[in-house]
Amino acid sequence: MTARRLLALAASLSMAGMVVTTTSAPGTARTVDDRCVQQRGPIPVHALAAASRSGCSLVGRIVVDGRVSVVVPPSGMSVSGDGIGVHGDVRGLTVANTGTTVRAIRGAHGTAGGWYLAPITSTTTTSTLGTMTSGRAGSPPACKDRTFHLEHHKWRSGLRYRVNLSKMPRRYHKLVVTRQIQVANGNMRKGRNTCGKPRLRTPASHYLGHTSKRPNIRAAGPTCGKPNTRNVVGFGNLPGGLLGWTCFWYYNSGRIAGTDILLDTGANMTTHLPRNCANKWDFEGVVTHEWGHAYGLAHTGSGHAHLTMQHLLAPCSTYARTLGLGDWLGMNKMYGHRR
Ligand SMILES: [Zn+2]
Repeated sequence: MTARRLLALAASLSMAGMVVTTTSAPGTARTVDDRCVQQRGPIPVHALAAASRSGCSLVGRIVVDGRVSVVVPPSGMSVSGDGIGVHGDVRGLTVANTGTTVRAIRGAHGTAGGWYLAPITSTTTTSTLGTMTSGRAGSPPACKDRTFHLEHHKWRSGLRYRVNLSKMPRRYHKLVVTRQIQVANGNMRKGRNTCGKPRLRTPASHYLGHTSKRPNIRAAGPTCGKPNTRNVVGFGNLPGGLLGWTCFWYYNSGRIAGTDILLDTGANMTTHLPRNCANKWDFEGVVTHEWGHAYGLAHTGSGHAHLTMQHLLAPCSTYARTLGLGDWLGMNKMYGHRR
């Protein structure tokens, strides 16, 4: 047998291994029946518990919550999608595969029953969850607001990432965009702030240059795809007033597997706010927020409009480039700071 044949045999054996892995039920290694094979469509989040009890593997299936969706990761892993917007009702979605169950956490972190996104221009919004302040006027100042929520992952070694400019709108300059993405990473990673707080000890990041590989996020939805270990920042046509969307995949131990960031291609964002600014959002501020998700920060919920990690960003301001006290405290809880 030639070496080539051996390689082919090894490949087909490992493929067989993959089939067994992906078709075995969570926790049990039962054989696949026709019933499972027929069920390959998207799973609405309200039907996930029942689907998880069915005994069919859900790995690779899409879980949908409203228009947001994620692909169920392998056993022992979780996937989350979270974004920042102008208005609308898009909320984050986390799906965890524990090996015995696959469960979803909708619009997680802080508010029971999910959170409600309101236009940033209104000061109060009445929703089914009650009246909430979403305008900046009702929020504590950035250096007085201690609010933060954490995701369930953090980086234990350096974050290596690349930038994909294949869908970058022409009105941007490649050099400026690439530079602001790197600066935004530093803003979050080092905890740049105006509150007098010291530099954080987040593991180093390494910008590895441009890439033709796309972020593993489908803009429509958005949908977080299968886990990968490549970290890519890129552009896409995000729906519903979203400015950015971050997906991250992590082991249930909290160790990160990878993260991808998609930035909206719409005309809302700019790398330089104009003098007479109206309805323009700061690119570097948006990317700083998205890096916050990548590093393990969740949204603050409404009423924290001076913090970088609120889910809505005010226009015509660069405030999100610097962390508020709560943003800094959240990062500090995960990574500590220099003394
Ligand atoms: Zn966000």
